[in-house]
Amino acid sequence: PQLLMSSIIQLLPDHVANQIAAGEVVQRPASVVKELLENAVDARATDIKLIIKDAGKALVQVIDNGLGMSVTDARLCFERHATSKIRQAEDLFSLHTKGFRGEALASIAAIAHVEMKTKQDQEELGNYIIIEGSKFVSQEVAVLPKGTSFAVKNLFFNIPARRNFLKSDTVEYRHVVDEFQRVALAHPKIHFTFYHNGSEMFNLSPGTLRHRIVAVFGSKSNEKLIPVQEETEIVTIEGFVSKPEFAKKSRGEQFFFVNNRFIKSGYLHHAVMAAYEGILKDGTQPSYFLNLTLPPHTIDINIHPTKTEIKFDDEQALYAILRASIKHGLGQFNVAPILDFER
Ligand code: ADP
Ligand code: MG
Repeated sequence: PQLLMSSIIQLLPDHVANQIAAGEVVQRPASVVKELLENAVDARATDIKLIIKDAGKALVQVIDNGLGMSVTDARLCFERHATSKIRQAEDLFSLHTKGFRGEALASIAAIAHVEMKTKQDQEELGNYIIIEGSKFVSQEVAVLPKGTSFAVKNLFFNIPARRNFLKSDTVEYRHVVDEFQRVALAHPKIHFTFYHNGSEMFNLSPGTLRHRIVAVFGSKSNEKLIPVQEETEIVTIEGFVSKPEFAKKSRGEQFFFVNNRFIKSGYLHHAVMAAYEGILKDGTQPSYFLNLTLPPHTIDINIHPTKTEIKFDDEQALYAILRASIKHGLGQFNVAPILDFER
Protein backbone atom coordinates (compact mmCIF):
# COMPACT_ATOMS: atom_id res chain seq x y z
CA PRO A 1 0.00 0.00 0.00
CA GLN A 2 1.18 3.47 -0.84
CA LEU A 3 2.13 5.81 1.96
CA LEU A 4 0.27 9.09 1.98
CA MET A 5 2.75 11.97 2.11
CA SER A 6 1.81 14.56 4.64
CA SER A 7 1.14 17.94 3.13
CA ILE A 8 4.03 20.38 3.20
CA ILE A 9 2.47 23.50 1.66
CA GLN A 10 1.40 26.29 3.99
CA LEU A 11 -0.18 29.67 3.48
CA LEU A 12 2.25 32.37 4.54
CA PRO A 13 1.17 34.59 7.42
CA ASP A 14 0.14 38.10 6.31
CA HIS A 15 3.16 39.86 7.72
CA VAL A 16 5.47 37.58 5.76
CA ALA A 17 3.47 38.05 2.54
CA ASN A 18 3.56 41.80 3.11
CA GLN A 19 7.29 41.80 3.55
CA ILE A 20 7.73 39.85 0.32
CA ALA A 21 5.47 42.24 -1.59
CA ALA A 22 7.38 45.15 -0.10
CA GLY A 23 10.48 43.90 -1.86
CA GLU A 24 8.82 44.78 -5.16
CA VAL A 25 6.94 47.91 -4.20
CA VAL A 26 9.48 49.61 -1.96
CA GLN A 27 13.00 49.81 -3.29
CA ARG A 28 14.10 52.99 -1.55
CA PRO A 29 12.75 56.07 0.25
CA ALA A 30 11.67 57.50 -3.11
CA SER A 31 9.25 54.57 -3.56
CA VAL A 32 7.54 55.52 -0.31
CA VAL A 33 7.37 59.13 -1.46
CA LYS A 34 5.69 58.06 -4.70
CA GLU A 35 3.09 55.84 -3.01
CA LEU A 36 2.19 58.40 -0.33
CA LEU A 37 1.97 61.30 -2.78
CA GLU A 38 -0.25 59.28 -5.11
CA ASN A 39 -2.53 58.32 -2.25
CA ALA A 40 -2.85 61.99 -1.33
CA VAL A 41 -3.74 62.84 -4.92
CA ASP A 42 -6.29 60.02 -5.02
CA ALA A 43 -7.79 61.42 -1.80
CA ARG A 44 -8.44 64.63 -3.79
CA ALA A 45 -6.13 66.79 -1.73
CA THR A 46 -5.56 70.35 -2.95
CA ASP A 47 -2.57 70.88 -0.69
CA ILE A 48 0.17 68.29 -0.19
CA LYS A 49 3.28 68.59 1.95
CA LEU A 50 6.27 66.30 1.65
CA ILE A 51 8.70 66.32 4.56
CA ILE A 52 11.82 64.15 4.54
CA LYS A 53 14.87 63.74 6.74
CA ASP A 54 18.23 62.30 5.67
CA ALA A 55 17.05 61.83 2.09
CA GLY A 56 14.05 59.90 3.38
CA LYS A 57 16.08 57.27 5.22
CA ALA A 58 15.07 58.67 8.63
CA LEU A 59 11.66 60.09 7.70
CA VAL A 60 9.23 60.38 4.83
CA GLN A 61 6.09 62.24 5.77
CA VAL A 62 3.21 63.28 3.54
CA ILE A 63 0.48 65.53 4.87
CA ASP A 64 -2.63 66.12 2.79
CA ASN A 65 -5.92 67.95 3.15
CA GLY A 66 -7.87 65.26 1.31
CA LEU A 67 -10.84 63.09 2.24
CA GLY A 68 -9.33 61.37 5.25
CA MET A 69 -10.47 57.97 6.50
CA SER A 70 -13.11 56.63 8.86
CA VAL A 71 -12.08 54.73 12.03
CA THR A 72 -12.54 51.38 10.29
CA ASP A 73 -10.76 52.40 7.11
CA ALA A 74 -7.88 53.84 9.12
CA ARG A 75 -7.14 50.32 10.26
CA LEU A 76 -8.14 48.51 7.08
CA CYS A 77 -5.85 50.57 4.86
CA PHE A 78 -2.85 48.63 6.19
CA GLU A 79 -4.31 45.27 5.18
CA ARG A 80 -3.01 43.63 2.05
CA HIS A 81 -5.30 43.99 -1.00
CA ALA A 82 -7.40 46.50 0.89
CA THR A 83 -8.42 49.32 -1.44
CA SER A 84 -11.29 51.74 -1.86
CA LYS A 85 -10.37 52.29 -5.50
CA ILE A 86 -11.61 49.19 -7.28
CA ARG A 87 -14.29 46.66 -6.42
CA GLN A 88 -14.13 44.15 -9.26
CA ALA A 89 -11.77 43.08 -12.02
CA GLU A 90 -13.66 45.10 -14.65
CA ASP A 91 -12.81 48.28 -12.77
CA LEU A 92 -9.22 47.81 -13.94
CA PHE A 93 -10.41 48.97 -17.35
CA SER A 94 -11.94 52.20 -16.12
CA LEU A 95 -9.32 53.43 -13.69
CA HIS A 96 -9.41 57.05 -12.61
CA THR A 97 -7.07 56.72 -9.64
CA LYS A 98 -3.34 56.25 -9.24
CA GLY A 99 -3.77 53.32 -6.88
CA PHE A 100 -5.79 50.12 -7.20
CA ARG A 101 -3.52 47.31 -6.00
CA GLY A 102 -4.13 47.95 -2.32
CA GLU A 103 -0.67 46.86 -1.33
CA ALA A 104 1.44 49.98 -0.86
CA LEU A 105 0.51 50.73 2.75
CA ALA A 106 0.59 47.07 3.80
CA SER A 107 4.05 46.79 2.26
CA ILE A 108 5.38 50.01 3.78
CA ALA A 109 4.00 49.15 7.22
CA ALA A 110 5.75 45.76 7.01
CA ILE A 111 9.21 47.28 6.72
CA ALA A 112 9.06 50.58 8.61
CA HIS A 113 7.63 52.42 11.60
CA VAL A 114 4.47 54.20 10.48
CA GLU A 115 2.45 56.88 12.24
CA MET A 116 -0.80 57.79 10.61
CA LYS A 117 -3.18 60.60 11.49
CA THR A 118 -6.43 60.94 9.60
CA LYS A 119 -9.71 62.79 9.89
CA GLN A 120 -12.72 63.10 7.63
CA ASP A 121 -14.22 66.54 7.22
CA GLN A 122 -17.59 65.65 8.76
CA GLU A 123 -16.09 63.96 11.83
CA GLU A 124 -15.39 65.70 15.11
CA LEU A 125 -12.32 63.65 15.93
CA GLY A 126 -9.72 61.80 13.94
CA ASN A 127 -7.62 58.69 14.42
CA TYR A 128 -3.98 58.28 15.28
CA ILE A 129 -2.44 54.88 14.54
CA ILE A 130 1.05 53.53 15.07
CA ILE A 131 2.08 50.38 13.25
CA GLU A 132 5.58 48.90 13.18
CA GLY A 133 6.66 45.94 11.07
CA SER A 134 2.99 45.03 10.41
CA LYS A 135 2.18 45.10 14.17
CA PHE A 136 -0.43 47.54 15.42
CA VAL A 137 1.16 49.37 18.35
CA SER A 138 -1.65 51.77 19.17
CA GLN A 139 -4.83 53.37 17.92
CA GLU A 140 -6.25 56.48 19.55
CA VAL A 141 -8.81 59.13 18.77
CA ALA A 142 -7.29 62.59 18.46
CA VAL A 143 -8.06 66.20 17.63
CA LEU A 144 -6.78 66.56 14.07
CA PRO A 145 -7.16 68.74 11.01
CA LYS A 146 -9.06 67.40 7.99
CA GLY A 147 -6.98 65.06 5.85
CA THR A 148 -4.27 62.51 6.36
CA SER A 149 -0.67 62.43 7.49
CA PHE A 150 1.60 59.43 7.05
CA ALA A 151 5.00 59.51 8.73
CA VAL A 152 7.25 56.64 7.69
CA LYS A 153 10.33 56.24 9.85
CA ASN A 154 13.31 53.88 9.87
CA LEU A 155 12.65 52.33 6.50
CA PHE A 156 13.95 48.73 6.23
CA PHE A 157 14.60 48.62 9.99
CA ASN A 158 13.92 44.86 9.87
CA ILE A 159 15.74 44.15 6.59
CA PRO A 160 19.39 45.04 7.21
CA ALA A 161 20.45 43.90 3.74
CA ARG A 162 18.06 46.38 2.15
CA ARG A 163 19.01 49.16 4.49
CA ASN A 164 22.71 48.70 3.79
CA PHE A 165 22.01 48.61 0.07
CA LEU A 166 20.70 52.20 0.13
CA LYS A 167 22.92 54.70 -1.64
CA SER A 168 24.38 57.94 -0.28
CA ASP A 169 22.00 60.69 0.85
CA THR A 170 22.82 62.63 -2.31
CA VAL A 171 21.73 59.77 -4.54
CA GLU A 172 18.63 58.88 -2.50
CA TYR A 173 17.63 62.55 -2.34
CA ARG A 174 17.89 62.76 -6.13
CA HIS A 175 15.48 59.82 -6.46
CA VAL A 176 13.04 61.50 -4.06
CA VAL A 177 13.18 64.73 -6.06
CA ASP A 178 12.50 62.79 -9.26
CA GLU A 179 9.36 61.22 -7.79
CA PHE A 180 8.22 64.51 -6.31
CA GLN A 181 8.66 66.32 -9.62
CA ARG A 182 6.79 63.63 -11.54
CA VAL A 183 3.74 63.89 -9.32
CA ALA A 184 3.95 67.68 -9.11
CA LEU A 185 4.12 68.01 -12.91
CA ALA A 186 1.24 65.60 -13.38
CA HIS A 187 -0.93 67.74 -11.08
CA PRO A 188 -0.23 71.45 -11.59
CA LYS A 189 -3.49 72.44 -9.88
CA ILE A 190 -2.39 70.98 -6.54
CA HIS A 191 -0.25 73.05 -4.15
CA PHE A 192 2.90 71.09 -3.25
CA THR A 193 5.57 71.93 -0.71
CA PHE A 194 8.67 69.90 -0.02
CA TYR A 195 11.03 70.14 2.97
CA HIS A 196 14.33 68.33 3.40
CA ASN A 197 16.04 68.42 6.81
CA GLY A 198 13.99 71.45 7.75
CA SER A 199 14.69 73.51 4.60
CA GLU A 200 12.04 74.33 2.03
CA MET A 201 13.17 72.84 -1.30
CA PHE A 202 10.02 73.49 -3.37
CA ASN A 203 6.88 75.52 -2.89
CA LEU A 204 4.70 75.08 -5.96
CA SER A 205 1.56 77.16 -6.08
CA PRO A 206 -1.38 75.91 -8.16
CA GLY A 207 -1.47 76.98 -11.81
CA THR A 208 -1.11 75.84 -15.41
CA LEU A 209 1.36 73.22 -16.59
CA ARG A 210 3.57 76.03 -17.89
CA HIS A 211 3.61 77.66 -14.44
CA ARG A 212 4.46 74.35 -12.86
CA ILE A 213 7.33 73.62 -15.25
CA VAL A 214 8.76 77.08 -14.59
CA ALA A 215 8.32 76.66 -10.81
CA VAL A 216 10.10 73.29 -10.89
CA PHE A 217 12.84 73.90 -13.42
CA GLY A 218 13.40 77.65 -13.15
CA SER A 219 12.29 80.73 -15.04
CA LYS A 220 14.71 80.03 -17.91
CA SER A 221 12.54 77.12 -19.00
CA ASN A 222 9.73 79.48 -19.95
CA GLU A 223 11.32 80.66 -23.18
CA LYS A 224 12.19 77.08 -24.18
CA LEU A 225 8.66 75.75 -24.33
CA ILE A 226 6.63 75.16 -27.45
CA PRO A 227 3.02 74.11 -26.91
CA VAL A 228 1.79 70.84 -28.38
CA GLN A 229 -1.88 70.11 -28.72
CA GLU A 230 -3.84 67.47 -30.58
CA GLU A 231 -7.23 65.92 -30.15
CA THR A 232 -8.23 62.70 -31.84
CA GLU A 233 -10.56 59.83 -31.00
CA ILE A 234 -7.63 57.74 -29.84
CA VAL A 235 -5.81 60.29 -27.72
CA THR A 236 -5.70 63.89 -26.60
CA ILE A 237 -2.19 65.30 -26.39
CA GLU A 238 -1.37 68.45 -24.46
CA GLY A 239 1.89 69.84 -23.20
CA PHE A 240 5.19 71.27 -24.27
CA VAL A 241 8.37 70.34 -26.06
CA SER A 242 11.56 72.38 -26.04
CA LYS A 243 12.83 74.50 -28.91
CA PRO A 244 15.51 72.60 -30.82
CA GLU A 245 18.26 75.08 -29.92
CA PHE A 246 17.78 74.28 -26.22
CA ALA A 247 18.46 70.57 -26.70
CA LYS A 248 20.90 69.10 -24.19
CA LYS A 249 23.67 66.53 -24.21
CA SER A 250 21.92 64.46 -21.56
CA ARG A 251 18.35 63.22 -21.20
CA GLY A 252 16.78 65.00 -18.33
CA GLU A 253 13.53 66.83 -18.45
CA GLN A 254 11.57 64.26 -20.39
CA PHE A 255 8.13 63.42 -19.09
CA PHE A 256 5.20 61.44 -20.43
CA PHE A 257 2.02 61.42 -18.42
CA VAL A 258 -0.78 59.08 -19.36
CA ASN A 259 -4.05 60.00 -17.70
CA ASN A 260 -2.06 62.08 -15.18
CA ARG A 261 0.34 59.31 -14.33
CA PHE A 262 4.06 59.51 -15.07
CA ILE A 263 5.11 56.66 -17.34
CA LYS A 264 8.27 55.53 -19.09
CA SER A 265 8.07 54.55 -22.72
CA GLY A 266 10.99 53.97 -25.04
CA TYR A 267 8.52 53.67 -27.88
CA LEU A 268 6.91 57.07 -27.32
CA HIS A 269 10.32 58.63 -26.72
CA HIS A 270 11.26 57.36 -30.15
CA ALA A 271 8.19 59.08 -31.61
CA VAL A 272 9.31 62.38 -30.09
CA MET A 273 12.83 61.97 -31.44
CA ALA A 274 11.40 61.15 -34.86
CA ALA A 275 9.51 64.45 -34.81
CA TYR A 276 12.78 66.30 -34.23
CA GLU A 277 14.50 64.45 -37.04
CA GLY A 278 16.85 66.74 -38.92
CA ILE A 279 16.59 69.68 -36.53
CA LEU A 280 18.61 68.50 -33.53
CA LYS A 281 22.38 68.54 -33.25
CA ASP A 282 23.70 64.99 -33.13
CA GLY A 283 23.61 63.42 -29.70
CA THR A 284 21.41 66.11 -28.15
CA GLN A 285 18.05 65.59 -26.47
CA PRO A 286 14.97 67.80 -26.31
CA SER A 287 12.96 68.34 -23.13
CA TYR A 288 9.31 67.40 -23.20
CA PHE A 289 6.32 67.47 -20.90
CA LEU A 290 3.49 65.61 -22.62
CA ASN A 291 0.11 64.68 -21.23
CA LEU A 292 -1.66 61.94 -23.12
CA THR A 293 -5.28 61.35 -22.25
CA LEU A 294 -6.75 58.08 -23.46
CA PRO A 295 -9.97 56.23 -22.69
CA PRO A 296 -9.03 54.03 -19.68
CA HIS A 297 -10.25 50.86 -21.41
CA THR A 298 -7.64 51.30 -24.17
CA ILE A 299 -4.67 51.11 -21.80
CA ASP A 300 -3.32 48.58 -19.31
CA ILE A 301 -1.27 49.92 -16.42
CA ASN A 302 -1.29 46.68 -14.46
CA ILE A 303 2.00 45.43 -15.84
CA HIS A 304 4.34 46.09 -12.96
CA PRO A 305 3.77 46.93 -9.26
CA THR A 306 5.32 50.38 -9.65
CA LYS A 307 2.95 51.18 -12.54
CA THR A 308 5.44 53.12 -14.65
CA GLU A 309 4.93 50.92 -17.70
CA ILE A 310 1.82 50.82 -19.78
CA LYS A 311 0.34 48.84 -22.65
CA PHE A 312 -1.62 50.71 -25.29
CA ASP A 313 -4.28 49.09 -27.50
CA ASP A 314 -3.13 50.91 -30.58
CA GLU A 315 0.51 51.72 -30.07
CA GLN A 316 1.27 52.44 -33.71
CA ALA A 317 -1.51 54.97 -34.13
CA LEU A 318 -0.40 56.66 -30.93
CA TYR A 319 3.16 56.86 -32.24
CA ALA A 320 2.01 58.46 -35.49
CA ILE A 321 -0.29 60.97 -33.79
CA LEU A 322 2.35 61.96 -31.26
CA ARG A 323 5.02 62.46 -33.86
CA ALA A 324 2.71 64.46 -36.11
CA SER A 325 1.48 66.71 -33.29
CA ILE A 326 5.03 67.55 -32.19
CA LYS A 327 6.10 68.18 -35.77
CA HIS A 328 3.14 70.48 -36.10
CA GLY A 329 4.07 72.30 -32.89
CA LEU A 330 7.67 72.71 -33.98
CA GLY A 331 6.55 73.95 -37.40
CA GLN A 332 4.14 76.48 -35.91
CA PHE A 333 6.91 77.86 -33.81
CA ASN A 334 9.17 78.35 -36.80
CA VAL A 335 6.50 80.50 -38.42
CA ALA A 336 5.40 82.47 -35.40
CA PRO A 337 6.81 81.98 -31.93
CA ILE A 338 4.08 81.48 -29.36
CA LEU A 339 4.84 83.37 -26.17
CA ASP A 340 1.48 83.36 -24.47
CA PHE A 341 2.33 82.62 -20.82
CA GLU A 342 -1.15 81.48 -19.93
CA ARG A 343 -1.38 78.58 -22.35
P1 ADP B 1 -4.31 51.70 -3.17
O1 ADP B 1 -3.83 53.12 -3.29
O2 ADP B 1 -3.83 50.84 -4.30
O3 ADP B 1 -5.78 51.59 -2.94
P2 ADP B 1 -2.82 51.74 -0.68
O4 ADP B 1 -2.23 50.65 0.15
O5 ADP B 1 -1.89 52.77 -1.19
O6 ADP B 1 -3.59 51.04 -1.87
O7 ADP B 1 -3.96 52.45 0.17
C1 ADP B 1 -5.03 51.66 0.69
C2 ADP B 1 -6.27 52.50 0.90
O8 ADP B 1 -6.05 53.42 1.97
C3 ADP B 1 -6.67 53.38 -0.28
O9 ADP B 1 -7.46 52.66 -1.23
C4 ADP B 1 -7.45 54.49 0.40
O10 ADP B 1 -8.79 54.11 0.60
C5 ADP B 1 -6.76 54.61 1.75
N1 ADP B 1 -5.81 55.74 1.77
C6 ADP B 1 -4.47 55.67 1.62
N2 ADP B 1 -3.89 56.86 1.69
C7 ADP B 1 -4.88 57.76 1.91
C8 ADP B 1 -4.93 59.19 2.08
N3 ADP B 1 -3.83 59.93 2.03
N4 ADP B 1 -6.14 59.76 2.29
C9 ADP B 1 -7.26 59.00 2.34
N5 ADP B 1 -7.28 57.66 2.18
C10 ADP B 1 -6.11 57.04 1.97
MG1 MG C 1 -1.86 53.73 -3.11
